[in-house]
Amino acid sequence: MEDKAIVTSRKNKNVMIELTDEEWDGLFDKAEETIQQVISELPEPVKNKAESIDCKLDRYCPKENWKVLGMYFSWTSGPIFVYVGQIYEDSRKNMEEAMKSVRQVYLHELAHAVGNLEEYEVKERGL
Ligand SMILES: [Zn+2]
Repeated sequence: MEDKAIVTSRKNKNVMIELTDEEWDGLFDKAEETIQQVISELPEPVKNKAESIDCKLDRYCPKENWKVLGMYFSWTSGPIFVYVGQIYEDSRKNMEEAMKSVRQVYLHELAHAVGNLEEYEVKERGL
């Protein structure tokens, strides 16, 4: 089942943020750093599992008009997708907020991946 749970409520579907290449690089670097940090803080068995699942950062979900922040397809063994452009946009270009969101999105998708959890089960765990 496709993970469409983290759909945002923004109405305007076609606006994408305009960033310079440098800004995109900075955003990707920060997000990567944040996810590495999250992984390093996980308890051992989950950490091992997390390290075995690829995480792919992209600007936006390639599916048109899917305003999702992340995605994981449960019939595959990964990767976990994190859409940093969408996240940054939703955080109104506030880097600190965006990185909080990256953390949350990654953990949410990881819960699907590691726990093989359905949407409501992930939500029940506060992720
Ligand atoms: Zn989900």
